[in-house]
This record gives sequence, C-alpha cells and structure tokens, in this order.
Amino acid sequence: MSSSPPDRAQERWVELVDRINHARVQYSLDATQTLSDAEYDTLFRELVGLEEQYPLLITGDSPTQSVGGYSSELFDPVTHLEPMYSLDNVFNVDEMTAWMDRITSTLGSFPELLCELKIDGLAVDAVYRRGHLESLATRGDGTTGEDVTANSILIASIPQRLKGKKLPAVLEVRGEVFYPLAAFDSINQEQAKAGKPLFANPRNAAAGALRQRLDKREREWISAQGTKREARLESELKAARQRLSALQFTVHGIGAHSELNLVSQSDTYKVLKAMGLPTSEHFSVENSPGDVLAFIQERNESRSSVDFDIDGVVAKVDQFNQQRELGFTSRAPRWAIAFKYPPEVVRTRLLDIRVSVGRTGRVTPYAVMEPVQVAGTTVSMATLHNPFEVERKGILIGDLIFLRKAGEIIPEVLGPVIEERTGSERAFVMPGNCPECGTELAPESEGDKDIRCPNARSCPAQLRERLFHLGSRGGLDVEGLGEKSAKALLESEIVTNEGDIFNLTETNLLTSPFFTRDPHKGEQGPQLNEAGITLLSQLHMAKQQPLWRFLVALSIRHVGPTVAKKLAKEFGSLSAIEAATESDLSEVDGIGDRIAHSLREYFEQDWHQDIIHKWIAAGVTFVDPTAKTEGPLTGKTIVITGSLPGFTRDSAQESLSDLGATISGSVSAKTDLVVAGDKAGSKAAKARSLGIPITGARGFELLSRGDFEAALSIPD
Ligand SMILES: [Zn+2]
Repeated sequence: MSSSPPDRAQERWVELVDRINHARVQYSLDATQTLSDAEYDTLFRELVGLEEQYPLLITGDSPTQSVGGYSSELFDPVTHLEPMYSLDNVFNVDEMTAWMDRITSTLGSFPELLCELKIDGLAVDAVYRRGHLESLATRGDGTTGEDVTANSILIASIPQRLKGKKLPAVLEVRGEVFYPLAAFDSINQEQAKAGKPLFANPRNAAAGALRQRLDKREREWISAQGTKREARLESELKAARQRLSALQFTVHGIGAHSELNLVSQSDTYKVLKAMGLPTSEHFSVENSPGDVLAFIQERNESRSSVDFDIDGVVAKVDQFNQQRELGFTSRAPRWAIAFKYPPEVVRTRLLDIRVSVGRTGRVTPYAVMEPVQVAGTTVSMATLHNPFEVERKGILIGDLIFLRKAGEIIPEVLGPVIEERTGSERAFVMPGNCPECGTELAPESEGDKDIRCPNARSCPAQLRERLFHLGSRGGLDVEGLGEKSAKALLESEIVTNEGDIFNLTETNLLTSPFFTRDPHKGEQGPQLNEAGITLLSQLHMAKQQPLWRFLVALSIRHVGPTVAKKLAKEFGSLSAIEAATESDLSEVDGIGDRIAHSLREYFEQDWHQDIIHKWIAAGVTFVDPTAKTEGPLTGKTIVITGSLPGFTRDSAQESLSDLGATISGSVSAKTDLVVAGDKAGSKAAKARSLGIPITGARGFELLSRGDFEAALSIPD
C-alpha cells in the first residue's frame, strides 16, 4: 500500500502537470516551445519521481499517462543522411510572381515547374537500404529528427520493402504522413468523447499518432497484466494502433541516394512509384507563370474535392540541373516555394453566445467571436444550431475556441481549447423567453431539439425573417426586399405582416426614411429613393410569379422550393391544395405526413387566411397554368384567341386550365375548340379552314362553368 500524499506533494503535482501540459499544448498546436528541452525534461523527471513515490496522485490528466512531449524525452535522435530543408513561403500572387521572376532571371528563362498539393501533414524521412526500410524519422530540426521506426510497421502506406530487382544500396525519401479528413474527424470525436483536447488540424493529429511510444505502451500493458489498469491500457493500446494504421503517406522528395540516374523531380516520382512508394497523384508540370498561377487558384477552389487537408501548393523547379544552378539559401532551397492558402482552422475568443429567432420561430444559439481571418474571410459569428449542440461541443463563454471554415462552407465552431481556460469562463444558458417579443419559448413537441418562439403572428423577428424570405431567391425573388428593407417596412409600420406587401404604394413608402431621399430642385417634398423605386416595381412584377414561388413565400413549415413545386404541379392552384384533405396531401409522392400536417395547420389559422385573401385582392392568382388539373374539361384542348371582356389572356387561360383543359397556343387538328374573343385574327381563320368548332364570349362563360357541350352549341 502506498501512503497518501501530503498536501505539499499534491500541490507540486498539480503545478507540474499544468506546466508540462501547457508546454505540450503550445508545442503541438503552435509548434512553439514555452519551455526549453532541458527545462521540460527536468520538470517531467520530477513528475515521474513524484508519481513513483505517491502513485495515488496519478490521474488521466497526468502527462505521464499520455503521449506527447519533446523529442529529447521520448525518442532516440536520428540524423538525416541529407538535411531536410524547410521551404520558403509566399502568401499571395504578387509574392509568387516575384519568386518566379527571380528564378527566371537567374536561369535565363522560365523553367518547368512541378506543382503539387501541399498536404497538411507531418514531414518524415525514410531511409531504405537495398530496398529495406531502415529508419523512419520525423523532420525534427531538419538535421536530426525523432526515430519512429518502431511505429512504421503499423503504417500500411509506408512500405517495409521496396519492389524491383536492382534496388539502390541507399535511398532516402521525404514525404508527408497525414490523415484523410474522415479519419481526422473520427479521431476528434474520440477525443471529445474521452474529454480530451481536440486536435486543431490533421497535422497535429498525425504528429500525435506518429510520436506515440507504442513500445512503451506495450510494456506498460504487459506489466499491468491482472491488474485494474490492464483493460484501460489494452484499449488505449488498441486505439493507438488504430490511429497509426489510419495514417497515409505520400513521398514528395528525395535525399541521399545511390545508383539512380535521376534528372528531374517528375522523373523521380516515376521511379519511386515503380518501387512501390506512394507518390502524389495531384501534381502537374507547368510551363508558364500563368499556368502555375492557374494551378494554384484551381486547387484552392477545389480544395474540398480531395479527401485530405491541404494548406497550399508547392512549386519546384523540375529539372535537377536547374535546381543545382539555383542552389540553397542558409535554410531553404531557392528552387522551391510553398504558396500557402489561408488557414481553414484558427483559434479565436468566444465572446458570447446569443440567440436568434428565425422565420418559423426556431431559436438558434450562435457564437459571437473576436473577428478572425479564416479561409480568406473575416468571421465573427457562427451558428451553434441548438442548445444541445452547444453542450455537445463543450464550449463555455470566454473560451478560446477552434473555428473551421473550409472554402464556401459556413464557419463551424469545433470546440474549446481546454488548456487555455482560466476559470472565468461561464456556461451558456438558453433563455426562457424570446429575446424579441418576450414570449415563453418551448419545444414544438416533446423531444424536439429545437426550441421555438410560439408567437408566429406578431414576433418582430419572425415577421422580419418571413418578409425577407418572401423576397429571397428561392421565394418570389424580389430585388429590393432584403433584410434591411424588411426591417424598415416593419419599423415604420408600413406593413403589419406579409399580407400587406402587395398593397404597398409610393405614399406608404414615403413615410420611411429608408425608402426616401431629399427633393431635388423643383421637386415637391421628399421623393422615393432607389430602394423605394426598386421595391415597388419588383413587387409589381412578383405578382406574376409561378404558384410554387408563392407557396414558398407563405413560409409554410417544411415547404421549400422542391415541395412547393410538387404541390403546384399536382394540385395546380392554392384553392385545390387548401381543399385537399391531409391524406390527399400525404399521398403525393414526396410530401408525406409531416408536410401534409403542416399544410393543414397553416390553412386553419385565420390570420394566414387574411394574408392569402389580401394577396388575392392585390392580384395574385395562386394558379399554376402548367399543372395538370382533373376537371370537367380534362382531355379537351382549347385555344383562346382575341380578347374576352373582364379577363386578361392569362386569367382566361387559367380559369379553363383550372377545370382540366389543356390550353394550347396554336390551332391544329388536335384542337377541340377555339374561343374567339374580340379581334380574333388568323387563329380563328385557321380553325375555320380545319373545321374546328369556334365559340365566343358566351361560350367561354359556359366553358368556365365546366360545360363543354353547351359551349359547343353556341358557335361564334
Ligand atoms: Zn418571439
């Protein structure tokens, strides 16, 4: 039995663990050392000694229980046969162009450049003797790295033996060890589950895996046989092995070698590939600065199409004689450059978590962060989806957090940097009442993850969002009805809700400064500004939009463009959708119970009916002229020509297509009846020549009541 540790030992242990873990985090996340190797070793040895004396102190937090640390402590040093240089970086087109100009002027002409993806991994050096892997080492300081040969056995993508007969006596290759994104995500999920810090990027995860002392773990596990620790150590060992086996390897360079007559980088890739070494499939030899820049731009745009993280493009002079001519600076080759893309994962401070209320009342927490550049844009907000998600990510207000944004994808909070906590962080509490209207929030139904503001009718946030949605591309596509104008319309009380939107007049808009400008010379009083003029004319045009867009514009829950198009096609008019029962609706392919129920619920609300009636009164027809409707005129092909009193051409056609008629624009042998109004022209004449029956305004009246036979009996 070991004695329980005195307070003094306990305190010292906490201090040591904090300092070592902090140093490790700095090192693994930023590759910055907060302690010198010697300081680190001293502290680590003291910790090991303390834990040997008082084993009760040992917890999972102790750095002695996990991998990490500095090379000096964990691994034997390996000196590379030839030094591994780092590459100089450029960050924009101007710098890249300047580099290309420099090498062009040294060489006298533009050299062929081999361009390849810069994988965000860990650089390693592998030495083969007569085709056998002799050593695998991390890059280290470029001259000396850490010996991780023991781990290489588990990394299937690193061949232990090369293929071919005449293998060189010595072959030193350089490459990148990395995780595909799917593997990286699952590692971070495991980390989160175990309450361990997340890896900021696949490179750190790869470093973590490669720099494990697997042999030490195996020994620990063996010596723990029959004890309580055995099961834990065994599962840790298994996880460690899995992490190693998921690592991928790509060769991108060559160091010392014998007996190989290599003339270029691209040639080298071919030779190495033939020996069974994995070389990049994502490279291209470019012949002009323009092609190089195009490669860089294209690969940035298609960054998400490869299944691993890249942080840029590397360009290397392809021909070795030209490489030699250019030579090296003190730390980097002059013949290669890394063009770095903007980072996709950064750290920033979570200042607050607030909630926003959406169009359908859904209350969504979102992160307010210190503005930070990520993937080329400045980000200061990110959605957190729902309170459960906030809990799952384990973030506290005040935390330093990891933030990811890849290409066009919306920014995502990954998780907290737990090591940076000071204790002043606080947990997010979901508000009980709507921040905009004060109504008590509640989930829609039990077990629903989303919390809603039930005040759909008059919650200012929901009104604003619905108006904005109505004007959006997927809705009625009203230019001039954006977030700001929606807000202005409501705040000036020009509209009470979306029902008023088609009745807007110049007089209404002139009451809001948002839509108004000062009069010019000779004008009487304030005038509509550009925003006001655009909004009025666009709304006027929007009345002619197809039915499905109006369905979207009504903000019926679960009715987006796809569903709306199906409904419009199937039913042809809003009145037909409204008349349908829930089971009629749910039988439609792609609709189902949930949407059917939501539609029925929508129509049951009086204030929804008010909106629909106001829109109809303003001239919205809610009819899809292209839809197939079953009715008394189904199977009849009718042509309308000339004008009919009280109808536009469109509304006349719609009134018949509503009854099932097929409306055609031209007369043919298939036409069943021609309706000839005033000033009917050539179509009526053609119908006469083909012997097709023609009727007039009275006949149309009968037709619009569905009586085809009666209409036939009243010839024009
Ligand atoms: Zn509300």
